[in-house]
Amino acid sequence: MNRKALALLSGGLDSILATRLILEQAIEVEAINFVTTFCTCTRKGCQHAGTQAAQTLEIPLKVLNITEEYLKVVKNPKYGYGSQMNPCIDCRIFTFSKAKSYMEEINASFIVTGEVLGERPMSQRKDAILLIEKESGLKGLIVRPLSSQFFEPTIPEIEGVVDRSKLLDISGRSRKPQIALAKEFGINDYPCAAGGCLLTDPGFAKRIKDLIEHNALIMDEVKLLRIGRHFRLSNEAKLIVGRDEAENNILETLVRNGDVCFKLKDNQGPFSVLRGKLGDSLIELAAKLIGHHTKFRNEERLQIDYWKTPVSNHTTISIRAANIEDVEKVRI
Ligand code: SF4
Repeated sequence: MNRKALALLSGGLDSILATRLILEQAIEVEAINFVTTFCTCTRKGCQHAGTQAAQTLEIPLKVLNITEEYLKVVKNPKYGYGSQMNPCIDCRIFTFSKAKSYMEEINASFIVTGEVLGERPMSQRKDAILLIEKESGLKGLIVRPLSSQFFEPTIPEIEGVVDRSKLLDISGRSRKPQIALAKEFGINDYPCAAGGCLLTDPGFAKRIKDLIEHNALIMDEVKLLRIGRHFRLSNEAKLIVGRDEAENNILETLVRNGDVCFKLKDNQGPFSVLRGKLGDSLIELAAKLIGHHTKFRNEERLQIDYWKTPVSNHTTISIRAANIEDVEKVRI
């Protein structure tokens, strides 16, 4: 076994400290950072946090966007979901398996993680940690420097590559020991301390669930989930209504062929997209729902333009805005 490790570097404090503890033992470390469209670590994204962390630690970093493949895990997790649509155990098995392939590619001997026993309810219980390790084909090859004393010695420890006596016994949800250790190491900048995942957000999870139930969990649809108000109009059709100018602009860039776009005739109010199998009654329903989300919702009639992409001919429909009860019936 050589003296080279691969660190799973999210950019959070735990992964920074764990990596640092291994670097302190004069072991060569490279890092990998997994990003998905569900990460919400910083406004600039997890990739930014991971890159910053690698710079702080002065180690090479590989950033891998795994969203597309990861959707299969979200759709059908073997070990189920957490409190929302977060399949944490399967998610970790998936990322650890990917890390294993990369570890072999760069000729590293083991993995380093910032896992802390008991810090997160679903994926950081001891039984879950050991299950993830086994299922990802990494038995005995994951060193968890922050919580090592709670686990059996790993192969790198047994073989004397890693000095176990210098590994720690942090557990639980308190962040105090990590913050104290960060101080000791002079690490002040850790943007992703708690990590963030949209799959744990109840509102977002509802939208993901809706896509799964309608067999539509694909990248094009997932990209839309972070913006706008969403409405399920039929088994095969959805409406997305922009909430402000910034969202209207983003939504316009995500339109694809076959979508029907809507705008108020005088160009005020939200930009909206109706996607799926469409009929005239759905166009009317969509227009009524859009009308409700304008400041003209109490007017007798509203004129709304719509057009099917990529055809540019606009048609105008005159509607009365839907009332709140009708809006709530279809809101996702
Ligand atoms: S919270 Fe999200 S990113 Fe973290 S393990 Fe769970 S599913 Fe994966």
